[in-house]
Amino acid sequence: MMAQFLALREDTPKDALLFYRMGDFYELFFDDARRASEALDIALTQRGQHQGEPIPMCGVPAATAEAYLARLIKAGFKVAVGEQLEDPAAAKARGSKTVERGLTRIVTPGTLTEDSLLDARSSNRIAALSETAGGGTALAWAEVSTGEFAVSEIDSGQLAAEISALNPAELLVREESYTAARDWVPAGRITPQARAKFDAKSGERRLKERFSVQSLEAFGSFSAAELAALGALLDYLELAQAGAPAKLSPPRQVQPGHTLLIDPATRASLEIDRTLTGDRKGSLLDCIDETVTAPGARLLAARLTRPSTDLAAIRNRHDLLAHFIDSPVTERVRERLKAAGDLERAATRLVLSRSGPRDLAALRRGLAEAQTLSALLLETPGIDAPGHLGSLAEMLNVSARAELAALQHDLEAALVDEPGLAARDGGFIAAGWIAALDEARALRDDSRKLIAGLQQTYGEASGVSNLKIKHNNVLGYFVEVTAKNADPLMADEAFIHRQTMANAVRFTTTELGALESKIAGAADRALALELEAFSGFRDRVEAQAETIRSIARALAEIDVACANAQLAQDRNWARPDLGETPVFTIVSGRHPVVEASLKAQGEAGFTPNDCRLSDDAERLLLVTGPNMAGKSTYLRQNALMLILAQAGLYVPASEARIGIADRLFSRVGAADDLARGRSTFMNEMVETSAILNQATARSFVILDEVGRGTSTFDGLSIAWAAAEHLHEVNRCRALFATHYHELTRLAEDLDHAGNVSLKAREWKGELVFLHQIAEGPADKSYGIEVARRAGLPKAAIARAKTILERLESEDAPSAALAELPLFSATPMAQESKPSLVSERLKRVVPDELSPRDALECLYELKRLA
Ligand code: ADP
Repeated sequence: MMAQFLALREDTPKDALLFYRMGDFYELFFDDARRASEALDIALTQRGQHQGEPIPMCGVPAATAEAYLARLIKAGFKVAVGEQLEDPAAAKARGSKTVERGLTRIVTPGTLTEDSLLDARSSNRIAALSETAGGGTALAWAEVSTGEFAVSEIDSGQLAAEISALNPAELLVREESYTAARDWVPAGRITPQARAKFDAKSGERRLKERFSVQSLEAFGSFSAAELAALGALLDYLELAQAGAPAKLSPPRQVQPGHTLLIDPATRASLEIDRTLTGDRKGSLLDCIDETVTAPGARLLAARLTRPSTDLAAIRNRHDLLAHFIDSPVTERVRERLKAAGDLERAATRLVLSRSGPRDLAALRRGLAEAQTLSALLLETPGIDAPGHLGSLAEMLNVSARAELAALQHDLEAALVDEPGLAARDGGFIAAGWIAALDEARALRDDSRKLIAGLQQTYGEASGVSNLKIKHNNVLGYFVEVTAKNADPLMADEAFIHRQTMANAVRFTTTELGALESKIAGAADRALALELEAFSGFRDRVEAQAETIRSIARALAEIDVACANAQLAQDRNWARPDLGETPVFTIVSGRHPVVEASLKAQGEAGFTPNDCRLSDDAERLLLVTGPNMAGKSTYLRQNALMLILAQAGLYVPASEARIGIADRLFSRVGAADDLARGRSTFMNEMVETSAILNQATARSFVILDEVGRGTSTFDGLSIAWAAAEHLHEVNRCRALFATHYHELTRLAEDLDHAGNVSLKAREWKGELVFLHQIAEGPADKSYGIEVARRAGLPKAAIARAKTILERLESEDAPSAALAELPLFSATPMAQESKPSLVSERLKRVVPDELSPRDALECLYELKRLA
C-alpha cells in the first residue's frame, strides 16, 4: 500500500495535499499529514514504518470530508483526492491485497463546484494570464460552477484594473510573473505554472479537441495571447477535474473597452464590493443588494464591480428597472424568483456529474417558476413586445421549446417531491413512472411484510412473546430473543444459532435467508433502474444546457432589475440622465452607505449635497473645510454615484445628469503597505502618478488630501502641481479635497477650477458641522477645535493657538514657519550638546590600546554615562 501511495504522491502536484482514500476515511501521510493536522487541528498519529522511521499520519472521515476541504482551501491549500477505483471485493478476487486507487480530482480555490464550498451569492472564477513574447497580453477566465468561459485581450497598463474587477479566486500565471501577480491578488490565490503551459499552438489544439471543432472561427478570431491563456486554463481545469472535466461553454471573446476601468487602489478605497478589511458587510454592494436569488446577487456584483461604458446597454438596464417601479407585478415577480432558486449552478452540477436527484428537483422547480414568470411579466404595464422585457418573457417561456418542455414534464412526473442528495441512495423516482421499478419495489415491500409476519408466527410457535426480527449488515435478517428465552429456539432445528451476546441470542432461519436475498435482489434491481433513469435525465439536461443557462441568465437579470427598482423606490433614488458629454450634475446627492448607517443608528438624517462639474463652467472643484466636516464623504458619494449610474442602477439623488466616464480614479486615505515595503507617502505618490499619467478628458477623479504624508511645503507643492496638471493636461472632471488653504487661490488663475467648502459654525463655543456644501473656499481651519474635542492636553491646545495666531498675523507665513522649530527633522537633537561619553569616545584609538588600557577606558566611559 505504501508503494502505491508513494507512486500516487509522485503523480500529485507538489503544492497539493493528497487525500488518500482508505475505507471510510481519507488519510494523509508524511508531510501532508503534518501540515493538514496543524491546519485542521486534528491529531497526528503514526502508522507503520518507512525507511526505518514511523510514518506520520492523520485522517478525516469521508462522510464529512467536505467541511475539512473547505477549511483547507480557505487556509490556502490545494487538495488532491486519491479515490479507491474498485470495490475491495474486486481487488480480492483479482488476488491483490491493495485496492486500485487513482487521482480523481484536485480541489483548488478556483475549481470548486460543491454548494457547501461555494458562496452562493458571489462568483468563484479561475483566471489565467498569458503574456506573449510579442507583447500581447490576454486574460482567460472560467467559472466552473456556471460553465462561463471567456477571454479578453488586455492592454498591459490596464491589467491591474481588469484583474481586480474579475477578482479571481485563483490566478494562473507564468512562474516569472509570480512577483508581479502579488500586486493584483493575495499570494494564496496565485498558482504559478511552467512557461510551456502558456503556448498558443497547443492551446489552439486543446480548444479544438475540447469543443470538437475543426476550426475555432465559429467562436471568434483569437490572438496568440488569447489562445495561450485559454489553453493554459483548460489544461489546468482538466488536471483538476481528472476524469470528469469541467463542462464549459465555448470560449467567448469579451471586448475590453466597454467597462469603466477602476484600478485596484480605487476599488479598495471606495469599498465597492468589500470593505478595506475584506468583508462584504459594510461595502456598497452589501448596502444596495436587494436581490432575492443567488444568481441575481452574482449578476449585481458583476455589474457593480464592472460598470459599463456602453450608453445603449446602460439605458437598457435603466429601462428594464423602470418597468418594475411602482408596478403591481413587482412583488409577485420577486416571490416567484425566490422560489426559482439557483437554476444555473444546479444545471451545471448535473452536467458535471457531481450531482444528485436534488439538483434535478432544483431544475424542475426553476423551470416551473420560469414558466410562471413568463406569463406574469406579460402583465407588466407598458410591456414592449419587441423590447427587452418582452424578449425576457419570451426567453422564460419554457413551453415554447419542445424538448425542454418535455424534459420539464417528465421531471414533474418522474421525481418524488423531495428527492435526496445522492442518486445511489435511490428512492427519488416516483411510483408509476417505471413499471419495472414499481414491480421491484412491490416485491421488496411484500417480502418485508412477510418478514414482519414471520415475527409473529415464530413468536407464537416458540411461545417466546418478545421474539424480534432485526437486521444488521453482518447477519442480515435474524431472530433475536433474550438469553433466558433462548432454550426453546436452541431446541428447534429450524433456528440456526449464530451469535450469543451479553443478554441476547441470535438465530437465522432458511426462510429468512430466502426472503432476504429476494429483498436484496429487488432492491438492487430497483436501484439500477433508478440510476439508469437519473443518467437519462442527466443526458437530457446536458443537451439542453445552453438553453437552461439562458433562462437562468434571464431570471438573474429580472431579479436584478426588480431588486434595483425596489431599492430606488424605498430610498427615493432617481434615474440618472446619461449622455456622452462629460458633465456631472447632481442635485441633492447622498452617500448611500453613510446615509444607511446614520439611519440604522437613529442619527439625524444625511444632509444632501449638489455637485456640478462641466467643461463649460468648472470641471475641477477644490473642496475645503475643517476636519470631520464631510469632505471625503462628499468626494466618495459622487464617485459612487458614477459607479451606480454606469452599473445600470438609479442614484441616491433627486436629479442626476452624468456623462459616461471611461475611468474612475480615487486617491483617498492611503495607509502604509507594509507587505510591499511602501510608506504611506510612497503609496500616495504611486497612486497620484497613476492618475496624472492615465486620466483622460472623459475620466472622473477624486483626490483627498494629496501631500498629507510629507512636510508642509513638499506636500503643498505636490498638491498644487497635481491640481494644475489635472486641470491643464488631463482635463478630466475632478474633486480635489485639501487642507492646504493656499490651494484655493488656484481657482483665480485657472479657468475651469472653482472652490466649494463644507461649512461649520461655532455655537456656544462648540463647533457644529452642517455637512452642507457651499460655494467658495472655507474661511477658517477648525483643526484646533477638533483636536480639543479629541482630548489633546490643554497646554498643547493653548500652544497651538499661539502658533496659529502668529502664523495668521504674518504676511508671509513661510517666514514664521522658518522661525519655528516645528518642521525641522529633530529640533531637540540640534540644540543639545554632544554627550561626554561620545566626546571621550572620539579620542579613543582602539589599535593603540592594550587590553588593560581598554578595560580602564571602559570603566571610565561607564562613569561618564
Ligand atoms: P472629512 O473628510 O472632512 O474629515 P468625513 O467625510 O470623514 O469628513 O465626515 C465625517 C463624518 O461626518 C462622517 O463620518 C459622517 O458621519 C458625517 N457626515 C459627512 N457628511 C455628511 C452629510 N452630508 N450628512 C450627514 N453626516 C455627514
